[in-house]
Amino acid sequence: MKQDPSLFVRPELRALGAYHLDLTPCRHKLDQNEVPWDLPRRMKVEMAERLLAADWARYPDFHADALRRDLGKLHGHPWEGVLVGNGSNELLSVALTALVAPGTPRTPVLGAEPSFGLYRGFVLKAGGVPRFLPPRPDLQLPADELEEEVERDPRRPLLLCTPNNPTGSALPVERVERLLERIEAPLLLDNAYGEFCRHDYRPLLARHPHLILFRTFSKAWSLAGMRLGYLLADPRLVSELIKVKLPYNLGHPGVIAGRVALENEAEARRRVRILVARRPQWAAMLAEEGFEVFPSEANFLLVRSPRAKEIRETLEARSLRVRDVSGYPGLAGCLRVSIGTGASLRAVRAALRGQETPRRAVWVPPAARPPGRTGQVERTTGETRIRLSLRLDGGERRIQVPDGFFGHMLTALATHSGVGIDLQAEGDTHVDLHHTVEDVGIALGEALAAALGERRGIVRFAHAYAPLDEALARAVVDLSGRGSFRYSAPRELAAAWVTADFPLTLVADFFQALADRGRLTLHLDILSARNGHHAAEAAFKAAALALRQAVAFRAGSAEVPSTKGTLSA
Ligand code: PMP
Repeated sequence: MKQDPSLFVRPELRALGAYHLDLTPCRHKLDQNEVPWDLPRRMKVEMAERLLAADWARYPDFHADALRRDLGKLHGHPWEGVLVGNGSNELLSVALTALVAPGTPRTPVLGAEPSFGLYRGFVLKAGGVPRFLPPRPDLQLPADELEEEVERDPRRPLLLCTPNNPTGSALPVERVERLLERIEAPLLLDNAYGEFCRHDYRPLLARHPHLILFRTFSKAWSLAGMRLGYLLADPRLVSELIKVKLPYNLGHPGVIAGRVALENEAEARRRVRILVARRPQWAAMLAEEGFEVFPSEANFLLVRSPRAKEIRETLEARSLRVRDVSGYPGLAGCLRVSIGTGASLRAVRAALRGQETPRRAVWVPPAARPPGRTGQVERTTGETRIRLSLRLDGGERRIQVPDGFFGHMLTALATHSGVGIDLQAEGDTHVDLHHTVEDVGIALGEALAAALGERRGIVRFAHAYAPLDEALARAVVDLSGRGSFRYSAPRELAAAWVTADFPLTLVADFFQALADRGRLTLHLDILSARNGHHAAEAAFKAAALALRQAVAFRAGSAEVPSTKGTLSA
């Protein structure tokens, strides 16, 4: 037989376009809705160690029950109602295969355009036929239109993406519930961006057994490279879907990665918090540069411009990759941009303005060791490189850090504490500033501990208030030999961003590291402030003024100021 074997493939599948994306490396990857940060190294090491300890010669669990139980706990959902797979895509395909009845006429599956590009293929592969409503002019999800369709024939499954990719639009919970009350078929709700969205659909699961919620580890959890996703549904439904999914569909790496990620849930929450806070900054920047920006509940923004194609090429030429979605129904002239780091934001803005891309700081050799009470630290990790020389009793100040605001704060700290400092820090600021700020805090703490030596004859206890206009901060210090830190900030400012890169929370992270490694007790309270800049600066100054007094020698005393006789524990 000489026939082209591709002709054996079902015609409706042959007609599908292949999924295609440019996967060549680029500097600012803003085209796949990933989060911009890889997992912290310590988490990857933990995963790698558990993988080494596993028995690779043995099959894994059929359905990864341990991970299902962890997820059940996370969502307060019975674990028998959780199913895990190689990305949520696999599970969407499994669910549709199970739920779409074969035969003629083919089962219609309701949906809405524009939406995730793979849905059409999933439906066709399952033997169904997509009945996707056309785009609304405002590109919002067509809740009313879907409701009408459901009322017309409630027996068609509905595939709904909210927040929707690529528009970012999301339906309020009540609108989804109205659909659930009307539909007499499963509602497959793709909630891949659920962590970034203010609407939480999970409570609907308990009331509506025909709801299936799909989630992924690819976004908020920084695990797109591991391929891991899950669905939440009624346990009775899952016990049937589990037969359609292949047994052993997850190997050791996925299961281990997922479990370690869940054990470190705070990391994911931190990433989500930062990205949600950055979303309006990106929206404002893109609007300022002339784009029409659509409201988003996800970690990306849909933007429109008559010059979209040309702009995408300009960005690509500078290694800034955004997604051209102009071919989607209703999206002529549209691009989709993932929310990235501050460095990416600045690079995009510079490119859109035709300016030079801002450069990072460069290294200079460390200064020679100065005399007196000094501490010198060199730290190199996978994330930062720091060289620090500290002179407690004063000296030159040279501070090179890859962020203007952080440099400004360190200068205030050095100036008002009266220390001499030579600092060069370089870090993974393309990821974000957090590692750099924290590691400079660690280095400064270690240099301070070294400079203080046995802590003999020093004042030890001190406190200071520092105002900055309306802002007021208080620092109380005990150079106790034990690291302890307490911090407070006005509730309305706690999550504030001082600059596009510097959240106020970094102030606490910095002083936490300093207190730990410098083995000092520090109570730092921002008592009042109206803006993050003033709050941060008042905090750095108060800490500096308190430290200045605490490290000073007591007049005429050389004894150790402790009832225990030593402070160098
Ligand atoms: N659903 C939507 C709407 C998505 O945008 C994506 C990823 N781009 C997925 C599902 C796929 O997620 P996963 O990586 O878990 O397969």
